[in-house]
Amino acid sequence: MKDDGCIFCKIANGEIPSATVFEDEDFRVILDLGPASKGHALILPKQHFKDLCEAECSTMAKILPLAGRVGQGMKKELGASGFNVVQNNGVSAGQTVFHLHVHVIPRYDGGPVIVGWTPGAATAEELAETAEMIKKGMQEL
Ligand code: 5GP
Ligand code: ZN
Repeated sequence: MKDDGCIFCKIANGEIPSATVFEDEDFRVILDLGPASKGHALILPKQHFKDLCEAECSTMAKILPLAGRVGQGMKKELGASGFNVVQNNGVSAGQTVFHLHVHVIPRYDGGPVIVGWTPGAATAEELAETAEMIKKGMQEL
């Protein structure tokens, strides 16, 4: 399934050219136009899913292994010493293109912190209560 108005559908399916790292029948891996670091890549499924909540399990099952291969390629050839795998769902999470994609961001020794957060605090009771709420939400799916 493709969405005619979606730029990542057009890129993933080759209608718009891109710096392509990898392609098979399910995915195209491209370089991000606004890289967080040299080699920042995006894994695009060729099928249109808005986000992770819509995605097919059979497609998603292949994404993490592919992200691992892309990251290994970055370590071997770009001199990266690590990489982050990031996937944003929804505006509040920073998603700006509403075609599911996974960022693979190479990290270099001494480079800036690109993906991070300030640890908060929670009591054991709060954690237990929150865990129950998420568990309930998952059971309703
Ligand atoms: P999001 O914020 O939705 O998780 O990530 C969208 C990413 O897509 C951003 O990092 C942005 O730089 C990248 N991007 C947006 N439009 C294009 C495009 O036309 N081509 C490429 N290669 N990257 C794009
Ligand atoms: Zn799309």
